[in-house]
Amino acid sequence: MLKLNGVNTFYGNIHALHDVSMHIDEGEIVTLIGANGAGKSTTLMSICGGTPPRSGEITFEGQPIHKTKMDQIVRLGISQVPEGRLIFPDLTVMENLELGAFLRNDKDGIKRDMEYAFSLFPILEERQKQAGGTLSGGEQQMLAISRALMARPRLLLLDEPSLGLAPIIIQQIFEIIQKVNASGTTVFLVEQNANQALKIAHRGYVMETGHITMEDNAATLLANEDVKKAYLGL
Ligand code: ATP
Repeated sequence: MLKLNGVNTFYGNIHALHDVSMHIDEGEIVTLIGANGAGKSTTLMSICGGTPPRSGEITFEGQPIHKTKMDQIVRLGISQVPEGRLIFPDLTVMENLELGAFLRNDKDGIKRDMEYAFSLFPILEERQKQAGGTLSGGEQQMLAISRALMARPRLLLLDEPSLGLAPIIIQQIFEIIQKVNASGTTVFLVEQNANQALKIAHRGYVMETGHITMEDNAATLLANEDVKKAYLGL
């Protein structure tokens, strides 16, 4: 479904991604794990058009997208949940969700998808008239995921959804990610929380200083001694 082939991404002179190649098949949850500053967010931003690669190729369902603008990429069926959630704090929960659907005009479909979001996260339905900025961190993450789903993506990109959240909330968010995947959305999950991410993913990639250094089935990576030492604190 998505392919990166020899992707190099720069911030000015800083060479952040080095010849990154990876793929995500339809129906999968694929995770990208790595330490702080490894280049995980840059990989995600390179896919969604935020930091287009200087060289290499990214294709979505066979179509090159590495020179495509962000809004067009959303139209193609890719939406992202950025690191730090970036919800609109002064807008209500409902208004934040409506913004997620800004490229759509099928009113009935939008209403159905909002009901779907509320069925995933009932707390958001209770809080629908509340300003986004007054939600707890976990609720804001739920809102950010729901907002991305309002674009009805076929590929959902998530950047560190567990960041700063209590273990019980992380558990809940990850269960929902699996549920969203089971209902047909392919997921690319960027995480520092390697343990949780590898537990729900089908496959995983390990990134170090802008290079992919390992790729395998998630269960194999979880059992790998180097991964255990470097990322699982074991
Ligand atoms: P984290 O888990 O801490 O978010 P990450 O793996 O997502 O880290 P990136 O944010 O992709 O890592 O950063 C990769 C490298 O690119 C780092 O060396 C970082 O300092 C650099 N970098 C990221 N954003 C910028 C920017 N806007 N300008 C310059 N350098 C940047």
